[in-house]
Amino acid sequence: MLPISQIDHLGVAVRSIAEASTYYREVLGLHGEAVEDVPEQKVRVTFFGVGDVRIELLEPTDDDSPIARFLEQRGPGLHHIAYRVDDLPATLAALKAAGVKLIDESPRRGAHGMRIAFARPTTTGGVLSEFCERP
Ligand code: ZN
Repeated sequence: MLPISQIDHLGVAVRSIAEASTYYREVLGLHGEAVEDVPEQKVRVTFFGVGDVRIELLEPTDDDSPIARFLEQRGPGLHHIAYRVDDLPATLAALKAAGVKLIDESPRRGAHGMRIAFARPTTTGGVLSEFCERP
């Protein structure tokens, strides 16, 4: 079993960070971080902190980005749950050994210099799951 102790963030797909941020900032009163481009995933993201957890808004920067395809198929909404781990390579090995199908066999770069990897929702109870290790 994995030592998961913390949800790092919840990923929400949006068409426009500028428009979606209004709700989080002005209605919920949350503080948003600077918007960051993640060219490897063809998205720009921002995070709103809620206690120890953050909400990540993901906006596509290209029509063939995975987030653009998600928006096309399902519209805006919850995209993934991200679990924080201390040792991502060891986590990926343990997930694989448990029969979880990985989208990323090895860690790749996410926002804020985090190392991240995604697992297929077909093997994680229907929700796209991200595992992330902070720098
Ligand atoms: Zn994420």
